[in-house]
Amino acid sequence: MTEPAKKLIDENGLRVDGRRLDELRPISIEVGVLDKADGSAYIAHGKNRIMAAVYGPREAHPKHIALPDRAVIKCRYHMAPFSVEERKSPAPSRRELELSKVIREALEPSIMSEFYPRTSIDIFIEVLQSDGGSRCAGITAASLALADAGIPLREIVAACAAGKADGKVVLDLSDTEDKLGEADLPVAFMPRSNSVSLIQMDGSLSEDEFNQALDMAIAACKKINALQVEALKRKYVSVKEQVEEKGEPKEASN
Ligand code: ADP
Repeated sequence: MTEPAKKLIDENGLRVDGRRLDELRPISIEVGVLDKADGSAYIAHGKNRIMAAVYGPREAHPKHIALPDRAVIKCRYHMAPFSVEERKSPAPSRRELELSKVIREALEPSIMSEFYPRTSIDIFIEVLQSDGGSRCAGITAASLALADAGIPLREIVAACAAGKADGKVVLDLSDTEDKLGEADLPVAFMPRSNSVSLIQMDGSLSEDEFNQALDMAIAACKKINALQVEALKRKYVSVKEQVEEKGEPKEASN
Protein backbone atom coordinates (compact mmCIF):
# COMPACT_ATOMS: atom_id res chain seq x y z
CA MET A 1 0.00 0.00 0.00
CA THR A 2 1.46 3.36 -1.05
CA GLU A 3 0.14 6.93 -0.97
CA PRO A 4 -2.38 7.37 -3.79
CA ALA A 5 -0.68 8.73 -6.92
CA LYS A 6 -4.01 9.40 -8.57
CA LYS A 7 -7.44 10.39 -7.34
CA LEU A 8 -9.44 7.30 -6.40
CA ILE A 9 -12.57 9.22 -5.36
CA ASP A 10 -13.89 12.21 -7.31
CA GLU A 11 -15.60 15.40 -6.10
CA ASN A 12 -19.01 13.65 -6.32
CA GLY A 13 -17.85 10.88 -3.99
CA LEU A 14 -17.67 8.34 -6.82
CA ARG A 15 -14.86 5.86 -7.32
CA VAL A 16 -12.73 5.25 -10.45
CA ASP A 17 -15.26 2.71 -11.73
CA GLY A 18 -18.21 4.99 -10.88
CA ARG A 19 -19.28 3.14 -7.73
CA ARG A 20 -20.44 4.72 -4.48
CA LEU A 21 -18.26 4.10 -1.41
CA ASP A 22 -20.43 1.24 -0.14
CA GLU A 23 -21.31 -0.31 -3.50
CA LEU A 24 -20.38 -3.85 -4.54
CA ARG A 25 -19.10 -4.63 -8.03
CA PRO A 26 -21.55 -6.62 -10.20
CA ILE A 27 -21.60 -10.29 -9.17
CA SER A 28 -22.95 -13.31 -11.01
CA ILE A 29 -22.68 -16.89 -9.84
CA GLU A 30 -23.41 -20.25 -11.44
CA VAL A 31 -23.39 -23.63 -9.70
CA GLY A 32 -22.64 -27.02 -11.30
CA VAL A 33 -20.69 -25.80 -14.31
CA LEU A 34 -18.25 -28.71 -14.69
CA ASP A 35 -19.06 -32.34 -15.55
CA LYS A 36 -16.04 -34.13 -14.16
CA ALA A 37 -15.65 -32.70 -10.67
CA ASP A 38 -18.05 -33.73 -7.88
CA GLY A 39 -19.05 -30.10 -7.36
CA SER A 40 -18.30 -26.80 -9.05
CA ALA A 41 -19.19 -23.12 -9.20
CA TYR A 42 -18.18 -20.13 -11.30
CA ILE A 43 -18.17 -16.53 -10.14
CA ALA A 44 -17.78 -13.27 -12.00
CA HIS A 45 -17.16 -10.64 -9.33
CA GLY A 46 -16.27 -7.35 -10.97
CA LYS A 47 -13.59 -8.36 -13.47
CA ASN A 48 -12.59 -11.42 -11.44
CA ARG A 49 -13.45 -14.66 -13.23
CA ILE A 50 -13.01 -17.66 -10.97
CA MET A 51 -13.81 -21.37 -11.22
CA ALA A 52 -14.02 -23.55 -8.12
CA ALA A 53 -14.15 -27.35 -8.21
CA VAL A 54 -14.39 -29.95 -5.47
CA TYR A 55 -13.63 -33.68 -5.32
CA GLY A 56 -14.67 -35.81 -2.39
CA PRO A 57 -15.11 -36.98 0.16
CA ARG A 58 -12.81 -39.65 -1.27
CA GLU A 59 -10.17 -41.95 0.14
CA ALA A 60 -7.27 -39.88 1.47
CA HIS A 61 -3.99 -40.19 -0.49
CA PRO A 62 -1.30 -40.65 0.63
CA LYS A 63 -2.86 -42.73 3.41
CA HIS A 64 -0.72 -41.22 6.18
CA ILE A 65 -2.49 -37.84 5.82
CA ALA A 66 -5.84 -39.47 6.78
CA LEU A 67 -7.38 -38.37 10.09
CA PRO A 68 -9.24 -40.88 12.29
CA ASP A 69 -12.04 -38.51 13.27
CA ARG A 70 -12.68 -36.30 10.25
CA ALA A 71 -11.95 -35.61 6.59
CA VAL A 72 -8.73 -33.83 5.63
CA ILE A 73 -9.55 -30.64 3.74
CA LYS A 74 -7.09 -29.63 1.05
CA CYS A 75 -7.25 -26.42 -0.91
CA ARG A 76 -5.34 -25.07 -3.88
CA TYR A 77 -5.75 -21.43 -4.97
CA HIS A 78 -4.07 -20.92 -8.32
CA MET A 79 -3.88 -18.01 -10.76
CA ALA A 80 -3.79 -18.91 -14.44
CA PRO A 81 -0.77 -17.45 -16.30
CA PHE A 82 -3.20 -15.24 -18.30
CA SER A 83 -5.11 -13.99 -15.24
CA VAL A 84 -3.01 -10.84 -14.84
CA GLU A 85 -1.56 -8.30 -17.27
CA GLU A 86 1.95 -9.75 -17.37
CA ARG A 87 2.10 -13.50 -17.80
CA LYS A 88 2.36 -15.12 -14.38
CA SER A 89 4.47 -18.23 -13.90
CA PRO A 90 2.16 -21.24 -13.58
CA ALA A 91 4.26 -22.50 -10.65
CA PRO A 92 2.64 -21.77 -7.26
CA SER A 93 3.99 -18.55 -5.75
CA ARG A 94 4.37 -17.90 -2.01
CA ARG A 95 1.24 -15.72 -2.25
CA GLU A 96 -0.77 -18.58 -3.78
CA LEU A 97 0.45 -21.01 -1.09
CA GLU A 98 -0.55 -18.54 1.63
CA LEU A 99 -3.95 -17.90 0.06
CA SER A 100 -4.56 -21.65 -0.30
CA LYS A 101 -4.05 -21.97 3.45
CA VAL A 102 -6.18 -18.99 4.49
CA ILE A 103 -9.01 -19.99 2.14
CA ARG A 104 -8.99 -23.53 3.57
CA GLU A 105 -9.15 -22.08 7.08
CA ALA A 106 -12.04 -19.80 6.06
CA LEU A 107 -14.07 -22.75 4.71
CA GLU A 108 -13.16 -25.42 7.28
CA PRO A 109 -15.55 -24.32 10.07
CA SER A 110 -18.50 -24.61 7.68
CA ILE A 111 -17.77 -28.24 6.61
CA MET A 112 -19.14 -31.19 8.60
CA SER A 113 -15.88 -33.05 8.08
CA GLU A 114 -16.56 -35.25 11.13
CA PHE A 115 -19.02 -37.27 8.98
CA TYR A 116 -16.20 -38.51 6.76
CA PRO A 117 -13.21 -39.81 8.77
CA ARG A 118 -10.18 -41.07 6.79
CA THR A 119 -11.24 -39.27 3.61
CA SER A 120 -10.10 -36.10 1.89
CA ILE A 121 -12.05 -33.24 0.40
CA ASP A 122 -10.09 -31.39 -2.29
CA ILE A 123 -10.95 -27.82 -3.22
CA PHE A 124 -9.47 -26.23 -6.34
CA ILE A 125 -9.79 -22.52 -7.05
CA GLU A 126 -8.63 -21.42 -10.46
CA VAL A 127 -8.44 -17.67 -11.02
CA LEU A 128 -8.93 -17.12 -14.76
CA GLN A 129 -8.89 -13.34 -14.48
CA SER A 130 -7.99 -11.35 -11.43
CA ASP A 131 -9.04 -7.86 -10.39
CA GLY A 132 -8.56 -7.45 -6.63
CA GLY A 133 -10.50 -9.42 -4.02
CA SER A 134 -9.84 -12.74 -5.72
CA ARG A 135 -9.40 -14.63 -2.41
CA CYS A 136 -12.87 -13.46 -1.35
CA ALA A 137 -14.53 -14.32 -4.65
CA GLY A 138 -12.68 -17.67 -4.54
CA ILE A 139 -14.14 -18.44 -1.09
CA THR A 140 -17.66 -17.47 -2.25
CA ALA A 141 -17.40 -19.84 -5.23
CA ALA A 142 -15.64 -22.68 -3.35
CA SER A 143 -18.32 -22.79 -0.66
CA LEU A 144 -20.93 -23.33 -3.40
CA ALA A 145 -18.79 -25.98 -5.10
CA LEU A 146 -18.71 -27.84 -1.75
CA ALA A 147 -22.51 -27.63 -1.51
CA ASP A 148 -22.79 -28.78 -5.14
CA ALA A 149 -20.61 -31.81 -4.31
CA GLY A 150 -23.25 -32.76 -1.72
CA ILE A 151 -20.90 -32.23 1.22
CA PRO A 152 -22.90 -31.40 4.35
CA LEU A 153 -22.25 -27.82 5.37
CA ARG A 154 -23.25 -26.02 8.53
CA GLU A 155 -23.77 -22.97 6.33
CA ILE A 156 -22.49 -21.31 3.18
CA VAL A 157 -19.52 -18.97 3.50
CA ALA A 158 -19.54 -15.64 1.66
CA ALA A 159 -16.58 -13.27 1.46
CA CYS A 160 -15.90 -9.66 0.56
CA ALA A 161 -13.22 -7.08 1.32
CA ALA A 162 -13.56 -3.51 2.50
CA GLY A 163 -10.71 -1.05 2.89
CA LYS A 164 -9.61 2.54 2.50
CA ALA A 165 -8.95 4.63 -0.59
CA ASP A 166 -8.28 8.38 -0.75
CA GLY A 167 -8.92 8.60 3.01
CA LYS A 168 -12.40 7.05 2.77
CA VAL A 169 -13.64 3.63 3.87
CA VAL A 170 -14.78 1.76 0.76
CA LEU A 171 -16.35 -1.60 -0.02
CA ASP A 172 -15.06 -4.30 -2.37
CA LEU A 173 -11.77 -2.84 -3.62
CA SER A 174 -10.86 -3.25 -7.28
CA ASP A 175 -7.27 -4.04 -8.27
CA THR A 176 -6.46 -0.31 -8.71
CA GLU A 177 -7.91 0.57 -5.29
CA ASP A 178 -6.13 -2.39 -3.72
CA LYS A 179 -2.77 -1.27 -5.16
CA LEU A 180 -3.15 2.51 -4.64
CA GLY A 181 -5.39 2.57 -1.56
CA GLU A 182 -4.38 2.74 2.08
CA ALA A 183 -5.90 -0.49 3.44
CA ASP A 184 -7.52 -3.78 2.44
CA LEU A 185 -9.59 -5.89 4.86
CA PRO A 186 -10.79 -9.21 3.37
CA VAL A 187 -13.55 -10.84 5.44
CA ALA A 188 -15.28 -14.24 5.15
CA PHE A 189 -18.56 -14.50 6.99
CA MET A 190 -21.01 -17.26 7.95
CA PRO A 191 -24.45 -15.62 8.16
CA ARG A 192 -26.40 -18.26 10.14
CA SER A 193 -23.96 -18.37 13.03
CA ASN A 194 -23.12 -14.70 12.54
CA SER A 195 -19.42 -15.53 12.66
CA VAL A 196 -16.31 -14.40 10.83
CA SER A 197 -14.12 -17.24 9.50
CA LEU A 198 -11.45 -15.08 7.85
CA ILE A 199 -10.18 -11.61 8.54
CA GLN A 200 -6.91 -10.23 7.25
CA MET A 201 -5.60 -6.72 7.03
CA ASP A 202 -3.08 -5.00 4.88
CA GLY A 203 -2.26 -1.26 5.38
CA SER A 204 -3.58 0.78 8.28
CA LEU A 205 -6.97 1.92 9.61
CA SER A 206 -8.00 3.80 12.75
CA GLU A 207 -10.21 1.88 15.19
CA ASP A 208 -13.32 3.71 13.88
CA GLU A 209 -12.37 3.06 10.26
CA PHE A 210 -11.69 -0.59 11.06
CA ASN A 211 -15.13 -1.00 12.65
CA GLN A 212 -16.79 0.79 9.74
CA ALA A 213 -14.95 -1.36 7.17
CA LEU A 214 -15.79 -4.57 9.06
CA ASP A 215 -19.50 -3.63 9.26
CA MET A 216 -19.50 -2.77 5.55
CA ALA A 217 -17.80 -6.06 4.61
CA ILE A 218 -20.22 -8.13 6.75
CA ALA A 219 -23.27 -6.36 5.26
CA ALA A 220 -21.88 -7.12 1.78
CA CYS A 221 -21.28 -10.80 2.71
CA LYS A 222 -24.97 -11.04 3.66
CA LYS A 223 -25.94 -9.69 0.22
CA ILE A 224 -23.51 -12.09 -1.49
CA ASN A 225 -24.97 -14.96 0.55
CA ALA A 226 -28.42 -14.18 -0.88
CA LEU A 227 -26.90 -14.46 -4.40
CA GLN A 228 -25.28 -17.78 -3.43
CA VAL A 229 -28.60 -19.19 -2.25
CA GLU A 230 -30.30 -18.04 -5.49
CA ALA A 231 -27.55 -19.67 -7.58
CA LEU A 232 -27.92 -22.98 -5.69
CA LYS A 233 -31.70 -22.90 -6.10
CA ARG A 234 -31.33 -22.24 -9.86
CA LYS A 235 -29.15 -25.35 -10.14
CA TYR A 236 -31.68 -27.55 -8.35
CA VAL A 237 -34.68 -26.13 -10.22
CA SER A 238 -32.88 -26.91 -13.50
CA VAL A 239 -32.06 -30.49 -12.36
CA LYS A 240 -35.72 -30.97 -11.34
CA GLU A 241 -36.93 -29.71 -14.73
CA GLN A 242 -34.56 -32.06 -16.56
CA VAL A 243 -35.75 -35.02 -14.49
CA GLU A 244 -39.39 -34.11 -15.17
CA GLU A 245 -38.81 -33.62 -18.92
CA LYS A 246 -36.45 -36.46 -19.74
CA GLY A 247 -36.57 -38.76 -16.76
CA GLU A 248 -32.93 -38.14 -15.86
CA PRO A 249 -30.67 -35.13 -15.21
CA LYS A 250 -28.08 -34.11 -17.79
CA GLU A 251 -24.46 -34.48 -16.65
CA ALA A 252 -24.08 -30.75 -16.07
CA SER A 253 -26.67 -28.03 -15.69
CA ASN A 254 -25.56 -26.08 -18.77
P1 ADP B 1 -6.73 -10.48 -3.57
O1 ADP B 1 -6.89 -10.86 -5.02
O2 ADP B 1 -7.41 -11.45 -2.66
O3 ADP B 1 -7.13 -9.05 -3.30
P2 ADP B 1 -4.00 -9.56 -3.20
O4 ADP B 1 -4.40 -8.41 -2.35
O5 ADP B 1 -2.75 -10.32 -2.86
O6 ADP B 1 -5.20 -10.65 -3.22
O7 ADP B 1 -3.88 -9.13 -4.71
C1 ADP B 1 -4.61 -8.06 -5.21
C2 ADP B 1 -4.60 -8.11 -6.71
O8 ADP B 1 -3.28 -7.97 -7.19
C3 ADP B 1 -5.06 -9.44 -7.30
O9 ADP B 1 -6.46 -9.60 -7.31
C4 ADP B 1 -4.49 -9.32 -8.70
O10 ADP B 1 -5.34 -8.53 -9.53
C5 ADP B 1 -3.19 -8.60 -8.45
N1 ADP B 1 -2.09 -9.58 -8.46
C6 ADP B 1 -1.85 -10.56 -7.56
N2 ADP B 1 -0.78 -11.29 -7.92
C7 ADP B 1 -0.34 -10.77 -9.09
C8 ADP B 1 0.72 -11.09 -9.98
N3 ADP B 1 1.56 -12.10 -9.76
N4 ADP B 1 0.86 -10.31 -11.09
C9 ADP B 1 0.02 -9.28 -11.33
N5 ADP B 1 -1.02 -8.94 -10.53
C10 ADP B 1 -1.19 -9.67 -9.42
